[in-house]
Amino acid sequence: MAEFDETFDWVVVGSGAGSVSSALLMKHAGKSVVILEKSDKFGGTTAKSGGVIWIPNNRFMDPGEDSEEKAITYLDSVVKDSPKFPGTSPQKRRTFVREGPKMIDFVVGQGVALERCSRFWPDYYDELPGGNKTSRTISAVPFNKKELPGDWADKLRLGMLEMPVRLDDGMQIANMNRSWAARGVFAKTAARVVMGKLTGKHWVSAGAALQGRMLKAILEKNAADIRLNSPVKEIILDGDKAVGVVTEKNGKPWRVGANIGVLLNAGGFGQNAEMRAKYMPKTHTEWSNAIESSTGDMHREVERIGGTLAHMDQFVGHPSSRSPGFEGAYLKTGMQGVGAKPHAIVVDQSGVRFMNEASSYEQICQDILERDETVPALPSWAIMDSQFMIKYPMANKMGSRIPKGWRESGWLKEGKTLEELAEKIGVPADNLRKTVDRWNGFVDAGLDGDFQRGNDRAYSGYLGDTLVPPGPGRTLGKIEKGPYYAVEVITGDVDTYGGVLTDCDSRVLKADGTPFGNLYACGITTASPMGDVYPGAGASIGPSMTFGWIAAKHAAGLGNQDLN
Ligand SMILES: Cc1cc2nc3c(=O)[nH]c(=O)nc-3n(C[C@H](O)[C@H](O)[C@H](O)COP(=O)(O)OP(=O)(O)OC[C@H]3O[C@@H](n4cnc5c(N)ncnc54)[C@H](O)[C@@H]3O)c2cc1C
Repeated sequence: MAEFDETFDWVVVGSGAGSVSSALLMKHAGKSVVILEKSDKFGGTTAKSGGVIWIPNNRFMDPGEDSEEKAITYLDSVVKDSPKFPGTSPQKRRTFVREGPKMIDFVVGQGVALERCSRFWPDYYDELPGGNKTSRTISAVPFNKKELPGDWADKLRLGMLEMPVRLDDGMQIANMNRSWAARGVFAKTAARVVMGKLTGKHWVSAGAALQGRMLKAILEKNAADIRLNSPVKEIILDGDKAVGVVTEKNGKPWRVGANIGVLLNAGGFGQNAEMRAKYMPKTHTEWSNAIESSTGDMHREVERIGGTLAHMDQFVGHPSSRSPGFEGAYLKTGMQGVGAKPHAIVVDQSGVRFMNEASSYEQICQDILERDETVPALPSWAIMDSQFMIKYPMANKMGSRIPKGWRESGWLKEGKTLEELAEKIGVPADNLRKTVDRWNGFVDAGLDGDFQRGNDRAYSGYLGDTLVPPGPGRTLGKIEKGPYYAVEVITGDVDTYGGVLTDCDSRVLKADGTPFGNLYACGITTASPMGDVYPGAGASIGPSMTFGWIAAKHAAGLGNQDLN
């Protein structure tokens, strides 16, 4: 029998999204919890992220707006069931749809202030049966991190927005050079920032607000002992039952026992170059937005003890571009909305369009890699005309003025004519001309005859020009006024999407398909319950919080008890 330096009921590896929902549940069930976090910061990539949570049929939606049946219809139509993607199954998706809203009710009941993120952030394939054209996405209310006790404010991982701005407002502010309403939103946000400074607040939004609020709930309830700088190196088994883990304390091995279970919520492997080379050879750690400690430790540990990994080639793509300052940037330049705006398209290295540019970030990267199998497409090129450049934001540019460094660094390519531009990017000029003429013809007809961009999906309108009335006009616009511009598009990411296989109770499965005893996993450590599909905004954090909570319910023996 193993001997331990200390023992808790529930041992959580990593401080991701599911760690906190599971800890709150365990406290409710009267169990003791330790969260062992490898880095010196709390909150994982979740804290760095947009923090949006995709939960269909949630409490913030209007009565009758959604239902379990509608959500299941959507997931069944968008997610493929195939032996290639064993992380998903009809039962897994039903479990997610059934338990997700209950998890949210529970978390809100624990004092975590959440809200509807937006009334317009459609599902990413909203044209499919059951797809939602409003929003199934939730986020945390902006948070003053000084509300955290002691020095915890400094230990919360840095987020993407250090100001009291809702993501919806952020989208509007991007139109500031063209809209008085957007200027109004900006002015209100600026006033809140100033007020915050004067009153000694430190506002955070998005993922840092979510993990900050979750952390506050944990600390107030004394729901978990949280240990930073505590990397877990090993899972301790008794037969095939997890009974504890080996972490480090003061640089020495420290054995922590687990009475009822171990939950692996240790993130993905976005920063592990060796694993990328093995599973996702055309991608790079330098292109990833995953935090530095996302090194797939628990993927490798589960493999070592006889578990199964799946979908390891999948990642949540984030079309990016190496604009000046890209290297070392905390957030890499995103290109998703660029190709979806009027007066812009994306072409491969032969100068030909190959996808609906107004798709989800994940879909765009999948399309680029698929195209690259037959025609060089990595990098691809976003092609824009001067109308685009005057109207729309790109990289750190909000107004119409092109930053000096863009030309100096050679990142932005420019040509007085399309032919000149084609030469600068090494693309056959006649192909680019034909592609643009064809595109302009589609714009005249109001119908993208090749990829239906803007024709039937509300989400295209979300990515397009939201100052234009809903319809194809939000994303269709001719490329006809020089000078013409191009920037590269590469397949960056916001995390990986493959990992440990689990069942509907979040139990980690052995190679023979049966579960280990007392060993659970959630989040990006697992093979996504959505297979290779990203169905909507928040499809990483939503399942992580839900399956972490389910794991705790199962381990605590609460089964289907109503906890709200
Ligand atoms: C800029 C950006 C925006 C994004 N926006 C969204 C969004 O809005 N919605 C969404 O759903 N997804 C979003 N994503 C993706 C999403 O944030 C992540 O996929 C998700 O948060 C992963 O959560 P998790 O619970 O699996 O674990 P993480 O939040 O990644 O946490 C895992 C933790 O485990 C720790 N750890 C690792 N190894 C060990 C070990 N050996 N021992 C102990 N601890 C360990 C890590 O340090 C980390 O703190 C975004 C990502 C980025 C980068």
